[in-house]
Amino acid sequence: MALKRVVVVGGGVIGTSVAVEAVRRGHAVVQLERDAEPRAASVRNFGLIWICGRAGGRELELALAGRRRWIELAGRARGIGLRTVGALVAARNGAELDVLAAAAERQDAAERQLALLTPDQARRIAPGLEKIVGALHSPLDAIVEPASALRALRDLAASSGRYRYLVEHTVVAADGAAVDHRGNRHDADLVVIGTGDFLELVPDAVVERARLTRRRLQMLETEPVAPALPVAVADGDALRYYPVFDVPERNSLPLPEPVVERLQAQLLIVPRADGRLTLGDTHVDDPAAALGSDEQADNYLLRRAGELLPTRQLRVRRRWTGSYLRRADGADPVLIERTPAGTLLVTAVGGMGMTAAPAIAAEALDSVGL
Ligand SMILES: Cc1cc2nc3c(=O)[nH]c(=O)nc-3n(C[C@H](O)[C@H](O)[C@H](O)COP(=O)(O)OP(=O)(O)OC[C@H]3O[C@@H](n4cnc5c(N)ncnc54)[C@H](O)[C@@H]3O)c2cc1C
Repeated sequence: MALKRVVVVGGGVIGTSVAVEAVRRGHAVVQLERDAEPRAASVRNFGLIWICGRAGGRELELALAGRRRWIELAGRARGIGLRTVGALVAARNGAELDVLAAAAERQDAAERQLALLTPDQARRIAPGLEKIVGALHSPLDAIVEPASALRALRDLAASSGRYRYLVEHTVVAADGAAVDHRGNRHDADLVVIGTGDFLELVPDAVVERARLTRRRLQMLETEPVAPALPVAVADGDALRYYPVFDVPERNSLPLPEPVVERLQAQLLIVPRADGRLTLGDTHVDDPAAALGSDEQADNYLLRRAGELLPTRQLRVRRRWTGSYLRRADGADPVLIERTPAGTLLVTAVGGMGMTAAPAIAAEALDSVGL
């Protein structure tokens, strides 16, 4: 195939994965990012390659394909920091355990390699977990480091000699070329829009048809803990939220605490490579006036983590919120679409962008025969 010029708008994990994949296929890439460093969802997330919770079918396929590609990429770019350590979903009462048992019996449980564990078996994987009556083990879950993964991917692309990365370049118009806010025109055979939840370059008709919706999450990071947590851990509130737990037993879960109900709060803990913990999260669609974290939710998440982990004191190092774009029309978990102006939109990847980005990138380029 002849070499093509690809301009990628957006320096998040989607834009960067498209750039890496386009370079791998022999094309020349210019990537444009509006900030000095990407600071949106792709650096605010858990870095969890989350297979366990995905809906069966297309979502699971994308997640598994993303995992395979992350493993391949991590062999060439160490800064991705991939650890294939797995995850536990911990139950604190019989009703939660019933949901986990039903999830472990799903038709696709074998593909996910899910297994129901006793408390002692769970503690062999994550020593010291407290107040649990059992857990679901998801060994295919993995962790990457959001703080360094994008740079590692860019370095990989740059090693080809066919990649340029321009920061502080906001693209204001895109069709056959991308025009930045300085008035520079970046000519291309294909412009790819990977701008996350920034909608300026997404046609209104697409926003309306796909019902593109911004979802906001709040997160915390602790100082390193001892003993270190070896795997990612979710608690029973995850059962209310993730599609994999949509089993009849879910209807018998006890009523959630008010903050869980109000903000869809759910504890997920992901250990960083240096022993810190990333804790979250909440899930609210475009809440008005949600400029910062909700204190009740932070307190709830910290209390739950304190009950579950053997660590006696969790010291918070920083807090932040983040948002991602998802499509609420139910047509597909991601939006890969050619616009009338000829650009390729790759966006609205929801809560699985970090998991599936390398697979989404490959699918996007396949869709235009590149
Ligand atoms: C708190 C939180 C936790 C999450 N945890 C996980 C997780 O553990 N696992 C998982 O799989 N997913 C997770 N996600 C989802 C995942 O982070 C997102 O799906 C993914 O990062 C989206 O990537 P993106 O590249 O589409 O968007 P973004 O990361 O938002 O990147 C878009 C980039 O485009 C740039 N840009 C925008 N407009 C322009 C323009 N006009 N010109 C130039 N540049 C522009 C922006 O500055 C930005 O850097 C989480 C999300 C959040 C918010």
